[in-house]
Amino acid sequence: MTTPFRSIVAWVAWPGILAACIVATQASFALGQPIAGFYVTYLAFAVGLLLLERWMPHEQAWTQSDGQLGADLTHTLVSNGAIQGLLMFSGMIGLSAAGTALGEPNFGLWPRHWPLALQIVLGLIVSEFAMYWAHRIAHEWTPLWHFHAVHHSVEKLWIVNSGRFHFVDAVKSVLPGIALLLALGAPMDVLTWLSALGAFIGTLTHCNVAMRFGVLSAVFNTPELHRWHHSMDLREGNKNYGENIMLWDWVFGTWFNANRRPPATIGIPEAMPVRFRDQIVWPFRRAFREAHGMSATVVETAPDLRGPRLCERSEAI
Ligand SMILES: [Zn+2]
Repeated sequence: MTTPFRSIVAWVAWPGILAACIVATQASFALGQPIAGFYVTYLAFAVGLLLLERWMPHEQAWTQSDGQLGADLTHTLVSNGAIQGLLMFSGMIGLSAAGTALGEPNFGLWPRHWPLALQIVLGLIVSEFAMYWAHRIAHEWTPLWHFHAVHHSVEKLWIVNSGRFHFVDAVKSVLPGIALLLALGAPMDVLTWLSALGAFIGTLTHCNVAMRFGVLSAVFNTPELHRWHHSMDLREGNKNYGENIMLWDWVFGTWFNANRRPPATIGIPEAMPVRFRDQIVWPFRRAFREAHGMSATVVETAPDLRGPRLCERSEAI
């Protein structure tokens, strides 16, 4: 039952949580501890969202276990955490320092004289262009889809599987945006801010909380939009590629929202292994079999598989 209080929480939760995370990140920068501050903020953010998922879930069925908790967390730690963390903090800091050394203070085209907030907005727009196409190509080019399918094989959305990415998929998603920003000479502070915002918004997009969004979904990648992106119907699923903002979906005609409830049954038409280590191997095996014109029957009928679920992939756009 929706009480007035819950209704208010539903409207203020997404912008309120993001605003609180931005304030905490700003405080971390002010204290000279942006990385440590990020992890503390993210921990509080994740615990808060988990409690909200228990209190006011969007989809009650998604509160049940899908048997993927271990795989989800391992993907997050190994693929998303280790690889993206390495790239976005250690590697990026090193590359940024190298870039800075090439021509400080005027390296590249980046407007370093702008206020930091404007530089972050510019960085978001620029990096999202690269990430939009990296994501869209992963849906439309079969070899990359096999890797991205590990993420889309989830049968429910909640914050724990927001980091479930095959490590190849994670690198493919992150590198183009970083490369573009570094090529333009963006400073480390901008890259660090974008990393933090990406983590907060990316986790929010997967949360199973009954939030309301209104006009926010025209600008940001909200859970409302991302639930369509996980639809098995590709007329709905091959949409909303933006990671944080929806600008490039508007430009390239893939923004999608409908005045009805997104599907509760999500996933992929292929069968996905249950275990983490098999999920790591699966895309390579699929790509190998396809490259050699072999049937996927053996893979899809093995006993340790989920699904497969039916989907009209022929209607892919
Ligand atoms: Zn996707």
